Amino acid sequence: MVIAGKERGKQGKVLKVIPEKGRALVEKLNVSKRHVKPSRQHPHGGIVDKETTIAVSNLMLVCPSCNQPIRGRKRFLEDGRKARCCSKCDELLDR
Ligand SMILES: [Zn+2]
Repeated sequence: MVIAGKERGKQGKVLKVIPEKGRALVEKLNVSKRHVKPSRQHPHGGIVDKETTIAVSNLMLVCPSCNQPIRGRKRFLEDGRKARCCSKCDELLDR
């Protein structure tokens, strides 16, 4: 879920996180139509859908179990692994 910026209030699936840039690529969000000139990458030019990244600080997780926007909370599991879990219903978010 996006909590800030022009896409605020929308939800999408996080496709990719780029930790070194602090940004994430979110499905169907921030898609900008780009007119491209013919190039090696786009031999015929035209219009392409380009999904742009969103700053991670503008994003929030939505718990799949209780459907609440939550702040991921790190918790140690019994086997010693670290996992993120819902701060409301304790559902594990990393599997
Ligand atoms: Zn939850």
